[in-house]
Amino acid sequence: MLEVNRELEDYILAHTTEEDALLKELCRETNLNVMAPRMLSGHLQGQLFKMLSHMLSPKNILEIGTYTGYSGICLARGLQEGGKLYTIDINDEIEDFTLSFIDKAGLTDKIEFLIGDALEIIPSLDKKWDLVFIDADKRDYLNYYKAVIDNVRQGGFILVDDILWDGKVVEPIEKKDKQTQGIVEFNTFVQQDDRVENVIIPLRHGLTLIRKL
Ligand code: SAH
Repeated sequence: MLEVNRELEDYILAHTTEEDALLKELCRETNLNVMAPRMLSGHLQGQLFKMLSHMLSPKNILEIGTYTGYSGICLARGLQEGGKLYTIDINDEIEDFTLSFIDKAGLTDKIEFLIGDALEIIPSLDKKWDLVFIDADKRDYLNYYKAVIDNVRQGGFILVDDILWDGKVVEPIEKKDKQTQGIVEFNTFVQQDDRVENVIIPLRHGLTLIRKL
């Protein structure tokens, strides 16, 4: 597999459509003001999400794990006319910050930001999902998947972040923490699930693309 060093990474970024001013500001402000900025998707993944969303032209997107809104804004850019992205986060401390960027992005009427535990909120959303992005508590990845899979339309996609978790998924079992165990359990389940086809892309911390058959 291709090892991406610093030089290659710079080259990739220099040959990828530039991050727009709003996303640059969101990234900068998140780094300055919010805990754990490493969680933000970042430019490469964000640009990929925007383009995947444009390919699908979804009506309904579900995002599990909003944080400061970077990935949600990118995904919402590809929504079809009248479409909506529902995004859930358990942390109410980021609400004002995130809403202000959704507003600046001009997406207030396209993004519904829901505060609470995703596992409690998902069953109350009576939608057929064209696209789902899972990026919240690693220990609950399989529970999120089970909570959404029946409501993903045939041909719909689920994207799942952090699926290689800095390579920890291949460490010996006794070294694995609860997050890594959650991811490994999820990866094993999806691989055996004949309702879907799936591929892991070694981008950033690993991204899985799942298509419902
Ligand atoms: N998708 C964002 C990053 C999300 S970080 C981006 O790419 O920019 C993960 C987020 O999941 C955190 O903000 C955390 O508060 C949230 N989270 C953790 N457990 C959750 C739960 N049970 N329900 C909803 N959100 C949760």
